[in-house]
Order: sequence, then C-alpha cells, then structure tokens
Amino acid sequence: MPIPGSGLAKGLAVTLRTMTKRSHTAQYPEVQPELPPRTRGVIGLFEENCTVCMLCARECPDWCIYIDSHKETVPAAAPGGRERSRNVLDRFAIDFSLCMYCGICIEVCPFDALFWSPEFEYAETDILDLTHERDKLRQWMWTVPAPPALDPAAEEPKELAAARKAADKAEAAAAAAAAAEQAAGGPASGGTAPGTGTPGEADA
Ligand code: SF4
Ligand code: SF4
Repeated sequence: MPIPGSGLAKGLAVTLRTMTKRSHTAQYPEVQPELPPRTRGVIGLFEENCTVCMLCARECPDWCIYIDSHKETVPAAAPGGRERSRNVLDRFAIDFSLCMYCGICIEVCPFDALFWSPEFEYAETDILDLTHERDKLRQWMWTVPAPPALDPAAEEPKELAAARKAADKAEAAAAAAAAAEQAAGGPASGGTAPGTGTPGEADA
C-alpha cells in the first residue's frame, strides 16, 4: 500500500528537478520549426512531367487524387509518318482533407511529376479549400528542396552518361572537321601562328 502523500512528494521532486532547466517549448509561429528536408508536408505537382498515366490516382488508397484529361492528335513529325495521340491534362487536384500522407502517389509516379514539400501551413477554415487544384499544386513545387548530392561512389545517372557521350561525339566530329579543313589547305595551313613554333626557333 502506498504511503499517503508519496505521490505529492514525487511530483514535487520532479518540479524541483526541472524548474531550473531551460524550457524546450517551441515558440511557433514566431519561431519556425526546423524540419527534416524530406518532411511530408504537402505534395507539389511538376505538371510538365505528367503524362496523365493515372497511376497515382489508381494507387491512392484514399481516392483523393482527381484527374481529368482529353486526347489530342499530334501531326506526324516527318512526311509520310503517322499521327500520334497524346493525353492533355485538364484537371489535377489533391484533396488534403482525405490524404493520409502515405506517399504512394509519389513513389509510383513513373515520370517524377510529384514531390514532397516540407510546407505545412495550409490549414483552412473551409474543408473544401483543402482540395488543391493544379495551380496551387504547382506553387508548392517552388518549396520542394533540391535533391541531395549523389554518393561519390554511385553509378553515374544514365541521362548524364548519354549527354556526355553525345557531347564527346560532337566534339570529336568538330575536331575531325577542323583537321580535314586544315589538311585541305584551310586557314591554319598558311604558316605558324605566333608563339606556336618549334621550341628554340626564336633563339636561333
Ligand atoms: S499521399 Fe497517399 S493518400 Fe495522399 S494523395 Fe498520395 S497516395 Fe493518396
Ligand atoms: S502517376 Fe505521375 S505521370 Fe501519371 S498521372 Fe500521376 S502525376 Fe501524372
């Protein structure tokens, strides 16, 4: 059986122990919290990357992504080619009153069109305003932090490797063209440019 008054003594002991320590209370909103860069605050849409594949809307467990689109015909790129049809986005909205911030939509998007932003200050007094349409989702993109740097030991991204290969190829072609021009008696064959003579020539 507990001693009468022991609870009060324990409580006072805690008070005495902590009353001289600094408070850890965050003075929000005067002081903004320091959040990890990958905090799940709100979702931003990078519309240019969206192909309206509907994967995010289909996989969302809460069915809170609304997408409307229509098809457009794109003329053939070359004479005799075939016309192509493509999806054009009419509406993209996320209802954040239903969203459970699972991140599945971002994970499944095959075209990197959705991103987490750490912004969280979008409380509304009307629940309908928590449905963010494409313009608002686009605005959130400006608050998405830059991706972390690659691990130095990581494999080079395929896009960079392809760009480097194309640049090397263009450089080699330009060098070959310049060499061919020189061999054919181009501007560089008329004499030695100042400062490019054989070492020791100037002293002879
Ligand atoms: S985070 Fe989850 S619940 Fe929210 S929109 Fe994406 S898939 Fe749906
Ligand atoms: S999964 Fe990505 S590309 Fe497909 S509709 Fe959603 S945001 Fe657009």
